[in-house]
Amino acid sequence: MSVFKYEKDADGIVTVTMDQTGPVNAMNGEYREAMSATVEKLEQEQGLTGVVLASAKKVFFAGGDLNELLAADKGDEAEFMAMLRSTKGVLRRLEKLPVPVVAAINGAALGGGFEICLCCNYRIAWDDKSVQLGLPEVTLGLLPGGGGIVRMVNLLGLEKALPYLLEGKKVAPVKALAEGMIHEIVGSTEELVPRAKAWILENKGNDQAAVQPWDTKGYKIPGGNAGSPKLAQLLMMAPALLRQKTRGLLPAPEKILDCAVEAARLDLDTALEIESRGLTYLAVTPQAKNMITTFFFGMNKVNGGASRPKNVDKTLTKKVGVLGAGMMGQGIAYVSAMAGIEVILKDISQDAADKGKAYSESLLEKRVARGRMSAEQKQAVLSLIKPTADDADLQGCDLIIEAVFENIDLKHKITQATEGRLAENGVWGSNTSTLPITQLAEAAEKPENFIGIHFFSPVDKMPLVEIICGEKTSDETLARAFDYTRQIRKTPIVVNDSLGFFTSRTFGTYLDEGVQLLSEGAHPVQIDAMGKAIGMPVGPLAVYDEVSLELSRKAQETWKEMGVLDKWGDGSVTRSVINTMVGEHGRGGRHHGGGFYEYAEDGSKTIWPPLLDIYYKPETRVSEQDMKDRLLFRPVIEALKCLETNVLRTVADGNIGSIMGIGAPVWTGGYIQFVNTYGAQRFVDRCGELAAAYGERFEAPQIALDHARSGELFA
Ligand code: NAD
Repeated sequence: MSVFKYEKDADGIVTVTMDQTGPVNAMNGEYREAMSATVEKLEQEQGLTGVVLASAKKVFFAGGDLNELLAADKGDEAEFMAMLRSTKGVLRRLEKLPVPVVAAINGAALGGGFEICLCCNYRIAWDDKSVQLGLPEVTLGLLPGGGGIVRMVNLLGLEKALPYLLEGKKVAPVKALAEGMIHEIVGSTEELVPRAKAWILENKGNDQAAVQPWDTKGYKIPGGNAGSPKLAQLLMMAPALLRQKTRGLLPAPEKILDCAVEAARLDLDTALEIESRGLTYLAVTPQAKNMITTFFFGMNKVNGGASRPKNVDKTLTKKVGVLGAGMMGQGIAYVSAMAGIEVILKDISQDAADKGKAYSESLLEKRVARGRMSAEQKQAVLSLIKPTADDADLQGCDLIIEAVFENIDLKHKITQATEGRLAENGVWGSNTSTLPITQLAEAAEKPENFIGIHFFSPVDKMPLVEIICGEKTSDETLARAFDYTRQIRKTPIVVNDSLGFFTSRTFGTYLDEGVQLLSEGAHPVQIDAMGKAIGMPVGPLAVYDEVSLELSRKAQETWKEMGVLDKWGDGSVTRSVINTMVGEHGRGGRHHGGGFYEYAEDGSKTIWPPLLDIYYKPETRVSEQDMKDRLLFRPVIEALKCLETNVLRTVADGNIGSIMGIGAPVWTGGYIQFVNTYGAQRFVDRCGELAAAYGERFEAPQIALDHARSGELFA
């Protein structure tokens, strides 16, 4: 029996309901067999008046089979291309049936799912927030190779189609309708198939209803074909703008642009063939492997709870106390209230606490102004936040998160003062960015209930939370912190206690290497340019200015007092540069009147001129390749050390944490995944070269040597 249910009614309409094995419909071998057999049957069906394509799953159709795509390797190209040709050939036959075909879209149709919809003459979707439509392949280093590029360009025109293809923009049915991507929306799933059938009957005798726009004689692509003068400027600018964005590190958007332009230039069937070649090329690139591994499989692992203890039932946080209504505390209060959690926002004075709440009000106000929320909804969220200066209000909190100044004595003091207010089994979380959780927990009556819940700034925008287990943190506490993080719709990675945890410690090496290059005499402009050339959002010196040299100096002082200075390696070069910059020249960073850069009022920046006199040596020769590798390898080596010493519990946590927390280049798929496609042996060899030239900090960690020997991937 086929996984596509085939039912013909008295009007001669066949409803094909896709119901593949497993939770979703996907473009795999089972699909190909079922779709091919179905189309063949439809072609032979007598008295056929129309076809409705429906889905038995919650998601209409999930898209390409990523396991299959991940498995495609160099050398498999011919086979892969043949498979694409055959899949697309069947879809082409579906859209060429002599009767109208209608998609009844009852759930998300993304990627391959939307490509199937595009092969239908009429598309009706359920107007619900669970229904998302679009072609997000680019976000996995791929392109829509099931006809998505070609049909979207033909349907919308090149200019309008490009954002969907290049950015992977997903839209709700209402927007898709306005854009011309679908034809109709209905208010409930029950209405879908009847409405599809009604449309077929309304169009009985109308031959055009069974013909795709691009198959009608004399069809003109909206906005003109690629030769049209109206598109000349777009075609001239687009490659340069794209290059500026990808810095040449991401092949997928460039290939998509190529294929889209070809789609606006060639006949449909030739363009489909070129699109298949594009996907075949991309599917075997390291970038696609990295992005699929981390953004799909890694993300599912992390959010699915791979690092959450299995022996604890799911928990729900109803009341959270936030101590400190400063920059971080006010953001934590906002995201918690947005998730429907009651919040007690406490600071040293009522005034300070009120100011913290006002931050939520301003964010909510913006949402209302943009039509993303009603005034009543805004009030409902705001009413959940109680600003206070009174500890008594914290009584009965399931969770208290402290975000007071970064000072161990103060943190100990407030722990002792308020821990007793927690509900039974309540969790105490610290948002510290640098202090070891185990030491902070020493002040707690119940250190087993103490955990690090490390947010990133700005809290309302950054999707990651780093959960840090101290030596005594219990499984139950970890599970509760994990569940709270999911409740506020953020992605939790779980790490074990270590100075700087995973994210700050790893990120610190990027900054340190930038400073090392500076002290060797490299030009500061070139250092930051090389950081961006490997795909980092900002160069190391510019980031150092943002996070502040002043703060870094303070952190070093604290570590010295705690006896943990240089715990992870020699920090003397950075220390000396910081002492010179802050101590001798008062250059504390962007928010301290300037650092490596000077900042103009309009936000622009230029190198602080004396920096060149102090450090720049024109005779210093470090090749660009070495600079790039030094800036990339340092955090990779640090991430591997975190894995080796169990600071990281899973590879997926390391990859997701590096991308979402510290801006690791997306093409790497995260700092650990990078080694998989670079090749462990090649990585070890390159570490050897860098160590010989620049110092022992580049020596490959044992875990890399082990993987190079065994050939095993980091997974
Ligand atoms: P902040 O200076 O903006 O805010 C601290 C707040 O704590 C102030 O409003 C202060 O009045 C309040 N406070 C001080 N003592 C208090 C007490 N006894 N009871 C209640 N409130 C008290 O600081 P911030 O940037 O929000 O950082 C707070 C914590 O978050 C620090 O531990 C910091 O290391 C950590 N953190 C900061 C960032 C960041 O980017 N700023 C990122 C991650 C973590």
